Amino acid sequence: MAVTAIFKCQKCGNEFNATHGDLKQAVLYRCEKCDYIQLIPRDSPAVIGCPQCGGKFKQGLLPMCPKCKSRKVVEKEVLSYKD
Ligand SMILES: [Zn+2]
Ligand SMILES: [Zn+2]
Repeated sequence: MAVTAIFKCQKCGNEFNATHGDLKQAVLYRCEKCDYIQLIPRDSPAVIGCPQCGGKFKQGLLPMCPKCKSRKVVEKEVLSYKD
């Protein structure tokens, strides 16, 4: 299940909206460097690099704070769920 939520950065205190988690048919990958999000179907053979910065996609990363680029974030309030 993918969750859209308000996250709070534990480093700088910034609050921001982000989505994380996987869908039934697709896995949510995030770019290590710039936090670009891409949904990739579960039966897809390969994961390509980030189209924005060329960084590596990883599964299961927490969202990145857009202000200080920290991933030390906590989910504060869930806004919506998606399967
Ligand atoms: Zn921050
Ligand atoms: Zn990127």
